[in-house]
Amino acid sequence: MSRWSYQFPILAYHRVGPFRADHVPTVSAAAFERQLAFLARFRCRVLPLDDLVGWFDRGERLPRRSVVITFDDGYEETHTVAWPILKRFGYPAAVFVAPGEVGRTGFATWEQLTELARDAVTIGSHTMHHSYVPLLSAERLQDELQQSKAVIESRIGRPVQCLSYPSGGFTPQAQAAARAAGYRVACTTNRALPGAGLDRYALRRIKMTERDAHPLLLLAKVSGHYDCFRRLKRPS
Ligand SMILES: [Zn+2]
Repeated sequence: MSRWSYQFPILAYHRVGPFRADHVPTVSAAAFERQLAFLARFRCRVLPLDDLVGWFDRGERLPRRSVVITFDDGYEETHTVAWPILKRFGYPAAVFVAPGEVGRTGFATWEQLTELARDAVTIGSHTMHHSYVPLLSAERLQDELQQSKAVIESRIGRPVQCLSYPSGGFTPQAQAAARAAGYRVACTTNRALPGAGLDRYALRRIKMTERDAHPLLLLAKVSGHYDCFRRLKRPS
């Protein structure tokens, strides 16, 4: 696979809203809004993550100038801050939650997640307890993947097809376990090997930051060739 190959852009956010004294990667509401406005101006099609499942199944080419927006962890602000902005643009998104964290201080409740799910937001699994997958025994791994899927499906009332590995960590065993548990795609961070091609159980994502309000940087990130820009910056 060529190092210049196209990589379907999947944007990864954590918290959108006020900056806090924790280590959660945060993008302010103002920057998030500017980023979405840029996607609109650049005429990007923002697609539901579930659509990727269909393309993979049909073996179709992923459409160019399209982008998927995802959020990890399911912070409360995903519902209170990010969602109203997404709605204004009419953009779908995916939110990955760990049932063990849902409803805890700072995290969205099941009621809020159900509301999101009714409105163009795909709810996916982030394992049961936000566990770092490479450190789990085979048995724990299976539990984390199966239980979280079952709990979310029963609370939200929709099938869960998508997984996000906490902190992006995964192994070939985890990919096989995700498939066996019934997931149809799984997202990582940018940890997958560059040039590894498009692997539906290791979909690479682009980490979004406050600085991405700069149009040129954002354009690079959604171009599908961001790897090239990163390599030019930091040749390996
Ligand atoms: Zn996480």
